[in-house]
Amino acid sequence: MKALWSDAIRNLTPYTPGEQAVDTALIKLNTNENPYPPSPQVLQALRDATNADLRLYPDPDGAQLRRTIAAQYGLSERHVFLGNGSDEVLAHTFLGLLKHAQPVLFPDITYSFYPVYCALYDIDYEALPVGADFRVEAAGYARENGGIVLPNPNAPTGLALSLSEIRRIVAASPDSVVVVDEAYVDFGAESAVPLVREFPNVLIAQTLSKSRSLAGLRVGYAIGDPGLIDALNTVKGCFNAYPLDSLALAGAQAAFADSEYFTTTCAAIVADREWLTAQLTGLGFAVLPSLANFLFVHHPQHDALGLKTHLRAKNILVRHFTAPRIEDYLRITIGTHEACEALLEALSDIVN
Ligand SMILES: *Cc1c(COP(=O)(O)O)cnc(C)c1O
Repeated sequence: MKALWSDAIRNLTPYTPGEQAVDTALIKLNTNENPYPPSPQVLQALRDATNADLRLYPDPDGAQLRRTIAAQYGLSERHVFLGNGSDEVLAHTFLGLLKHAQPVLFPDITYSFYPVYCALYDIDYEALPVGADFRVEAAGYARENGGIVLPNPNAPTGLALSLSEIRRIVAASPDSVVVVDEAYVDFGAESAVPLVREFPNVLIAQTLSKSRSLAGLRVGYAIGDPGLIDALNTVKGCFNAYPLDSLALAGAQAAFADSEYFTTTCAAIVADREWLTAQLTGLGFAVLPSLANFLFVHHPQHDALGLKTHLRAKNILVRHFTAPRIEDYLRITIGTHEACEALLEALSDIVN
């Protein structure tokens, strides 16, 4: 059947997203979505934008949204690139900035989309082992490379590097691009955006999917020196001139306008993360100290797959990865307080 396929994709294995359940009775703690709805102002903006103007193409450059994002950091719109989710931003980054003779470096335990992009674009990479405590060992990145990609906080561990560690990594590789994937940064880690003024080789990727409750709208962006942003615009212009539709542009604009809602919902998730960490520890789980909206947990007496199956029977979805070193762990998204309580109740049934 694959005889008709292009050679370039015949042996590719796509990224596997977590289950998107159609059954709404399920408690979804498996894909790091935000348990709170988008800001009411976002929903209103989407309704307002649902009008006859949908016959028109959207602004291909999303100029207004780029200005809004740039203004948050005192930067100019030339420092901002928009994409259809940060996954698309990352894809353009791999093709436009990370395909070189030397291998790209990223941690061995990290977002599993990175090796998929490398395979798609035929980019050489080397996965550097994280430490026994799952921490990214910053010193290991000070070596020849064709680029570096670091999620901060890392997924699926939730562990974060400090800004000074990121700065050291960026400074040590002035001749290659260092991408910091900050999908989860709003839940407590230090952002590396301030480094953009200092280093022309650092690119920060962020998304509205997690901290702004808009995974369904597909809006991501990169912040970096205009010299890097231009490369992303070149890829975009050769791929899809209108990555963000009119509704996405309107909704994202409103999301940034309602900073109070953003701050309140992020704080609620952080508070429940700390509470859930303590509760799970009380049940005998080892819980990595997460700065994200999920926990990475392990129970010394219960195998992860068994726990996942038990939770599934109680209508609770969590994520399990079969990769070496992490197959005994579960990644659990911080849900509403009620969802966290349901999780604890289901787990205490089998752990006690
Ligand atoms: C969720 C996630 C993304 C992708 O987010 P989208 O903007 O929804 O495409 C990127 N990187 C990491 C590490 C993520 O967990």
